[in-house]
Amino acid sequence: MMLNAARLSKKLRTLVLIGVAAIMPLDALAQTPAKRLFGGEPLPARLKPAAHGFYTKGCLAGGVAIPVDGPHWQAMRLSRNRRWGHPDLIKIIEDLSYKAKKDGWNGLLVGDISQPRGGPMLTGHRSHQMGLDADIWFNPMPDRRMTYKERENISAVSVLKKGSIYVDQARWTRGHTMVLYHAATSPRVERVLVHPGVKKQLCDTVRGNRAWLNKIRPTWGHHYHFHIRMGCPPGSPGCKKQNSTGNKTGCDDGSLDWWFDVELNPNKKKPKPKTPPKKRRELVLRDLPQACQAVLSANAPSLEAATYEPINTAFKAPSINLPAYSASRVLKGKSIEKAGAAITSIAGNLVPERVTIPTPRPR
Ligand SMILES: [Zn+2]
Repeated sequence: MMLNAARLSKKLRTLVLIGVAAIMPLDALAQTPAKRLFGGEPLPARLKPAAHGFYTKGCLAGGVAIPVDGPHWQAMRLSRNRRWGHPDLIKIIEDLSYKAKKDGWNGLLVGDISQPRGGPMLTGHRSHQMGLDADIWFNPMPDRRMTYKERENISAVSVLKKGSIYVDQARWTRGHTMVLYHAATSPRVERVLVHPGVKKQLCDTVRGNRAWLNKIRPTWGHHYHFHIRMGCPPGSPGCKKQNSTGNKTGCDDGSLDWWFDVELNPNKKKPKPKTPPKKRRELVLRDLPQACQAVLSANAPSLEAATYEPINTAFKAPSINLPAYSASRVLKGKSIEKAGAAITSIAGNLVPERVTIPTPRPR
């Protein structure tokens, strides 16, 4: 399927905006990194909601935006325009915000979900391409609504002890455990990605029902935020399923030990690979499912029409004026880890509920 001429000229304008040569033949467009095409789109594709492809190679039709504020959430880094997801995922995040609030988590700070039409992102992340992945900060919401600027600038705080690969026991609360519990037990969530230190914290302290630890998956990074990933939603025949996580907790089969003994062990020198690892080639449009061309060329709804309607329609927060989307601002934007005023410093009188950490279970 070819992009039509009018659409093509719109693409070229987008490319100009983000600094790519204006004169570009059609086959050159096919060579353009897909992240520039998808990262230039301010609004979703007005199509039936569907996830196409895979988490690391796909796109999203019919995406909806999570409202900037909900009773128990605030969306962060608004300039990135990544609060878009499959409607079923936005619903999952909304449900999580209520369940976690009941269990001692003051509310969710919602980080990156997907771009309006999904696809590879302008910066960061390999996944998050189908509107089925969402990052939630490891800091609970402060008791007040943050301004646009605060949501751009403040930094998240790692849950790890400084300079270590283990959780800081002085900062971990029952709320942390419970927000992860509710994320992992949400039936359609298939994985919750966290730093191995976080997984270890849960393995060492959770008692009683431990089956949900199966869905808590250790990975690199993910100590400033955790990452929820849902399975392929109905109505998405082109969505490729992930491998099953089986049914073990992953606490005592050696897989978690590997992270500490080998992968993250500062004393262990890793053998240098004989040939340097190949640089990953940038995805171009034709690497993605064909349906993604239609996603890219579809018309857009208004922002209002494409914003998810929350359960509590009466909830009102101070309104925030969102500036027009600019890809170049995204390229200059701050990561959540960047040093700056930390979220805890604006948390006001919020004192996280302290709990005695249960004694580690016997081996
Ligand atoms: Zn993530």
